Amino acid sequence: MIWLEKVIAVVDYDFLIVGAGIFGLSTAYHIKRTNKNAEIAVVDKNLDAGQGATAKSAGGFRVIFTNPVNRTLAESSVDFYLHVQRDLNRDLGIVMAGYLILQDKRLFEINRPVVERFEERGEVKVFRSDELREKLKMNVNFDGDEEAELLGAKNVDYGILAKKCGYIDADKLASFYKEELIQMGCSFEFNTHVENLFLEPELKLGIPREPRTWQKKRIAGVETNKGRITAKNVIVTAGGWSHLLLDRIGVDCISKPKKRQIFTVKLKKPELEELFHTDGFNEEGIMPFTFLPTGHYVRADKRDKTFWLGFADDLGRGFDTNEDPEERYYYDNIYPVVVKYFPQFRDVSIDNMWAGLYMINSLDGAPVIFKVENMVVATGDSGSGILKGDAVGRVAAALALGKKEAELYGGRRIRSDVLSIHNRCMEPEKFIF
Ligand SMILES: Cc1cc2nc3c(=O)[nH]c(=O)nc-3n(C[C@H](O)[C@H](O)[C@H](O)COP(=O)(O)OP(=O)(O)OC[C@H]3O[C@@H](n4cnc5c(N)ncnc54)[C@H](O)[C@@H]3O)c2cc1C
Repeated sequence: MIWLEKVIAVVDYDFLIVGAGIFGLSTAYHIKRTNKNAEIAVVDKNLDAGQGATAKSAGGFRVIFTNPVNRTLAESSVDFYLHVQRDLNRDLGIVMAGYLILQDKRLFEINRPVVERFEERGEVKVFRSDELREKLKMNVNFDGDEEAELLGAKNVDYGILAKKCGYIDADKLASFYKEELIQMGCSFEFNTHVENLFLEPELKLGIPREPRTWQKKRIAGVETNKGRITAKNVIVTAGGWSHLLLDRIGVDCISKPKKRQIFTVKLKKPELEELFHTDGFNEEGIMPFTFLPTGHYVRADKRDKTFWLGFADDLGRGFDTNEDPEERYYYDNIYPVVVKYFPQFRDVSIDNMWAGLYMINSLDGAPVIFKVENMVVATGDSGSGILKGDAVGRVAAALALGKKEAELYGGRRIRSDVLSIHNRCMEPEKFIF
């Protein structure tokens, strides 16, 4: 019968990657590193790599997690970034500022068993409230303060200083992967918006309305504003927009996007200069990346000599792809709380602000990496995609290359389906702040 004639699809690329954020870049890098001859294209709607959530991030990294998968992903990624900066002499803007996690007695008691384990391994040092008040000139006690009670500002009884923590310049990290990929012969298609993923039957019959339900299907490529691109394998690393492509073809990535914002202030007062240069926590001689008991954070940015302030709101903040920063959000929701703890910020206005998307997996807050036919999806960063980014790329690359295990930096091995939806194997993370 004429309609049973086989039509062989013309395949252009071996791997087509949608999204040039940290997940897409590191996936492309590790595929190419493993398989030098692979023809790879990375497509992004922006004009350059890493301009989505990657460029918007605070770049914070830590390795202290209780969940072994979280820990392995973070530690191997951080070790890789340190290797790139120290051994390959590529400046990634890494600042080992440490994380200072401030807690009241109640929360500290919950965390105590875990903190003691970290302490035994020399990974954290615990400071008491009087030392913190002295070093940081901060308010630590709000007993009888009605305003503090209204703001939900809890006392600072302890500060957990986690050492192998700090921040990285996410722009530089994205450039590192991009430059390496260009050297290795990977193609980039910027300013190219992927409108759809399109399906084809494995075996084309040339009949109308293919693929039919009984035909075995594959993701044959993408339709973009500039035309179709076909590939043997498609990898979706489209960050907070991944679901927009996947929902349309009936693939659930169990993650939704939510706006997150950062506000910066210059060191306009001597008190802020002094706070910025707080000594005694790290070799950088700057204030550590500090997390208040309310969840607000303050980061001393060494490159720009600014403070970065943020707070991740949950109930009331809808899931959508809106990325407009809201100046009022700072004055209504961040300023009053931060000033309560750090009076140095009183009457200081913001100088810059931006917003980006967390792709939140509410199940366990860890990345979601899975394979459907010839497509791999890596998303669900849940706000920790920079600090786990290299390992996520290695796991996604292993899945795309059909390997059962991924080898992470430093030789650690992990099942490549450990973060998939069906074979997911994640115990609850016990160190939450
Ligand atoms: C304010 C803020 C602070 C953060 N702080 C930290 C932190 O301290 N530490 C940390 O580890 N993480 C942090 N994160 C999270 C981190 O930025 C993300 O986890 C990480 O960047 C996710 O990378 P990604 O590659 O999945 O997404 P992205 O970087 O968003 O990349 C996705 C790419 O896909 C492209 N794309 C999407 N749809 C299409 C389409 N249809 N066609 C073509 N291209 C498309 C986008 O343009 C984008 O470049 C923060 C995020 C924000 C917003």
